[in-house]
Amino acid sequence: MKKTRREFFKNAAIAGAGIAAGSLVPPAGAATKRVKWDREADVVVIGAGAVGLPAAIQARQDGASVILLEAQKDVGGHAILSGGNVPLGGGTSAQKKYNIADSPDLIFSDLTDWSVVEPNGFPDYRYNDREIIRAFADNSAPTYEWLVAQGVIFVNKSPDNAGGNSVGNSAPREMHSAAMSWPRPETGKPVPSAAGPITSHGIGLIRPLEATARKSGVQILLEHKMVGLVRENPASGRVLGVTVDNKGTKLNLRAKKAVIIATGGSTGNVNFRRIFDPRLTDEYHSVAGEPWSFQDASGELAAMAVGASLWGAYNQVGEFGINITKAGYIGCQYGYRNLSWQPGSAVFHLARASGLGVGDWQYVILVNQAGLRFYDETVDQYKANNFKALQPYTPGSYRNLVNAKYDPRSVNFLNAALAGTGLPVNGGGPIWAIFDADAVKRERWNPEPPNVDIEKGYFFTANTIAELANKVVMKYQPKGLPADALQNTVAKYNSFVDAGKDADFGKPTPKYKIQTAPFYAAWAVPVIHDTRAGLRINWKCQVIDLNGQVIPGLYCGGESAGGFSEHGLARCTVQGRIAGKEAAAEKT
Ligand SMILES: Cc1cc2nc3c(=O)[nH]c(=O)nc-3n(C[C@H](O)[C@H](O)[C@H](O)COP(=O)(O)OP(=O)(O)OC[C@H]3O[C@@H](n4cnc5c(N)ncnc54)[C@H](O)[C@@H]3O)c2cc1C
Repeated sequence: MKKTRREFFKNAAIAGAGIAAGSLVPPAGAATKRVKWDREADVVVIGAGAVGLPAAIQARQDGASVILLEAQKDVGGHAILSGGNVPLGGGTSAQKKYNIADSPDLIFSDLTDWSVVEPNGFPDYRYNDREIIRAFADNSAPTYEWLVAQGVIFVNKSPDNAGGNSVGNSAPREMHSAAMSWPRPETGKPVPSAAGPITSHGIGLIRPLEATARKSGVQILLEHKMVGLVRENPASGRVLGVTVDNKGTKLNLRAKKAVIIATGGSTGNVNFRRIFDPRLTDEYHSVAGEPWSFQDASGELAAMAVGASLWGAYNQVGEFGINITKAGYIGCQYGYRNLSWQPGSAVFHLARASGLGVGDWQYVILVNQAGLRFYDETVDQYKANNFKALQPYTPGSYRNLVNAKYDPRSVNFLNAALAGTGLPVNGGGPIWAIFDADAVKRERWNPEPPNVDIEKGYFFTANTIAELANKVVMKYQPKGLPADALQNTVAKYNSFVDAGKDADFGKPTPKYKIQTAPFYAAWAVPVIHDTRAGLRINWKCQVIDLNGQVIPGLYCGGESAGGFSEHGLARCTVQGRIAGKEAAAEKT
């Protein structure tokens, strides 16, 4: 490690410094001033997740000195919590082993196919940036081999479909990083030892990469949050470094070659996400992956403050995939269906409750803040294209549109949930799952802390429906649920069960009455998940400004970058490597 060097750069602008989480306002003046550098490296990577770790390792392997900044106490970001399903294809050794035909051209064709649409007519790939997809297609298989070389162990089986989300129609590409014996952040425990090599989990991607990064000399600085970029002039010249907050101490870090933004997206920043969808107001604070790490748009905001452009907004707004999801765990703030926080987790004090996993939506009804049902509870979230999802499939053909099954009913639960209740305000307000003691028995729930969050108002119990309605008081439901409305809703639903028909929303044969005390209300708002739009980049992952010009010395990839509609880890790891390589190749 190089000795800390103090240096001054004349006329540098600290632009974006002081951006607070949630603030969209660039710092006053972004004034030009002298910067005192506290530390330096060739490449400074911001964020130690699915982009940042590969970027840092690649840059280091290409000869650069690297500082990797991480805002949290541990590395991994959302990637370490992920299912470890990694859709890297294009002719990987794993695909070859199982005689699966795939190629970079096939990936490119798949991920730019204008004719693939979901049952609501929304296309997965139509608005992808061709330059970015080509780079991904060409680097997909090499990145798989590279991950293996860095120590990532994949479950030893044929590439499949599991966990896929807008990953292309033509070939199975999902590989699965094996959990092995690392403790999982959400439980604090490893999976049982026999299951380690066959269980897909993000821990199996991140911990080997972390080990390789440390071994290869990447300086990982935990609890160092980037709060601004330093550029020569507010909107011109090179990006020279970053400003960091380390537990209240401000530091300036010089990047002799480049800065890489790998901060993981923007869905946790209410004002930022509402640029794309005004409905996503504050009550949707159940962002998947939080409270381990936060998608606070800090990377996007800092880059925009030095002139960067956003890109590919449709990919965030489009109703496909898991940009927004239906809650899977209820009665807690963080209800993402594939992630239940357990008391052994290092962040359980922030998550506060594990939630009740819903096995069957027949057991509950969902009501909005007015105490009214709004949709068939058994309907799931938006759909996404995946291997063989469209059959027969003719790439780029009108036939795909003709063969697509238009089925608006099966994909509009979320829109009904987010619709609001007729007031001139955005946001659908809270959604409550209402159920009774019989449902608790059927689901074998234990409706007590730490499974439910009573203290902060995410779970309520009462002996009558009216009493329950009056009790449901919390930040987003300040006056409780209207008791008459809730009683009527339950009575009507029970009559639908008697009649065997949901006359309001067509829930297929409503099965169970809500009739046995005690009664329960559990928080069940939709959960925000992916960011698929972010900073404009080119194929090298260089950040582009509002005039279409490269911002010298600034790179970005993954969920903070735009132009690429695909869920998750493949685009992140590939873009991390590209950014690391290109950054290391910059002249000092
Ligand atoms: C529960 C869950 C399951 C998932 N499962 C899958 C799956 O099976 N397959 C798949 O393909 N995808 C999956 N995903 C999505 C995938 O994990 C993400 O797309 C991917 O991790 C994004 O990579 P990233 O590097 O952009 O962000 P992250 O991996 O989130 O990393 C960003 C890092 O940057 C840090 N950071 C942010 N701001 C700053 C700052 N200002 N200064 C310093 N550090 C900062 C964060 O703390 C974080 O550590 C899942 C996501 C979740 C939440």
